[in-house]
Amino acid sequence: MSGEMGNGPGEQSEGPSKAKQGQSRAEKRFETSIAYFERAAKVIPGGIYGSKSPGFLVPGHFPYYLSHAKGSRIVDVDGNEFIDYLCGYGSQIVGYGNPAVDEPALAQARKGDLLNQPHPVMVELAERLVGLVDGMDWAVFVKNGTDATTLATSIARADTGKQIIIAAEGAYHGAANWCSTNVFPVFTQAEQRDVRYFPYNDVAALEALFRQHREKIACVILTPYHHPTYKPQQLPTPEFIATVERLCHSEGAYFIMDDIRANFRLSMKGSHSFFGAHPEMITMGKALANGYPLSVLLGTEGLKKTASSFFITGTYWMSAVPMIAAMATLDEMERLGGTERLAQLGRMLKEGLESLGREAGFSARISGPLAIPYLTFDEDPDLFLNQRFCAAMADRGVFMHPHHNWFISLAHTEEDIAQTLEAARGAFAELRD
Ligand code: PMP
Repeated sequence: MSGEMGNGPGEQSEGPSKAKQGQSRAEKRFETSIAYFERAAKVIPGGIYGSKSPGFLVPGHFPYYLSHAKGSRIVDVDGNEFIDYLCGYGSQIVGYGNPAVDEPALAQARKGDLLNQPHPVMVELAERLVGLVDGMDWAVFVKNGTDATTLATSIARADTGKQIIIAAEGAYHGAANWCSTNVFPVFTQAEQRDVRYFPYNDVAALEALFRQHREKIACVILTPYHHPTYKPQQLPTPEFIATVERLCHSEGAYFIMDDIRANFRLSMKGSHSFFGAHPEMITMGKALANGYPLSVLLGTEGLKKTASSFFITGTYWMSAVPMIAAMATLDEMERLGGTERLAQLGRMLKEGLESLGREAGFSARISGPLAIPYLTFDEDPDLFLNQRFCAAMADRGVFMHPHHNWFISLAHTEEDIAQTLEAARGAFAELRD
């Protein structure tokens, strides 16, 4: 694949300075990335945090460092270009470097970003989100999604005077000690003592938890659909949503919807409205400002007094540029009929991949919403086939994470999907042979 932004893998320049003798093809292709990683390992714990690189899973097929991006394409530090289906872990919803977002954001950056007092855009964005997202009456802006989920559960605890948080097994709500599964046991035992888990969609298990912890439950926090790592994604059943709401109401517990991953990819009114749910608090982030750092906690009127009593602050939380970017991202999504378009592209990708997989003798299955696809192979519970498939796709200039759901942006085109499917034909054939 050749692109306007750099060399495609097949035509990579391997000038004399790059092609050292004895290097494998992969080492040559990612030479600069590998050199940066070696330097990083000396001065940054783990080199890259949070295993955030598919290169750790399938070494030799993915870059470690990227240099720039435009539209649907990313370019690594060695000049390899990829059609990207990770979209900055979902944050890019209207495409990398979209001028409709970047121009107003950069104009504000030149005028001043982080001021002593909030910029009026904070009020405008709060008003806009309250008007847009179904059922919400107030907004608090934070930086990371983890800030928003942590604040939501804390407000629920403060308001109810109860301690227990109920969450679904395998759900990700951030990297704080109360919800992270990767912290040291010494934190886990103390801070997760009051978090109880049940299998998503399992009505009987949820009812049993409510019976067991009567009068102690502050909230249930759920993602609008279940996106565990390593497993097919699950959409909520109507009975499940109805049960969560019934149990929360009868117990006086709050229902928090963590919409950080899906954000506006399912509905401009929030994913809860797509699934007919009525949470009292909603967290959003990632795509909210098309990659500019911003997340938000939205809530209903009844919780506003408690939220007001919280000491909510952070040095960067009032920075204006991401909020300007969020306004422009919403404009762009609305102007382009974003959610329908994303689903249309997602359908092309899903149907194409599943049918190419079948033709090659594999049961490749795409689960989850169309704009947030997740690939699994029925015959591959350990995801090794998935890793090999994504490695073969990366070799062909398509960046798909083997263990994380993918994302589609409005910068993806039919042509991108067609090129992706062409690459997939080759990747499936390579796997079969
Ligand atoms: N909740 C969900 C559903 C998420 O997908 C994420 C991020 N992957 C988070 C919370 C945490 O967000 P952040 O990484 O911005 O802290």
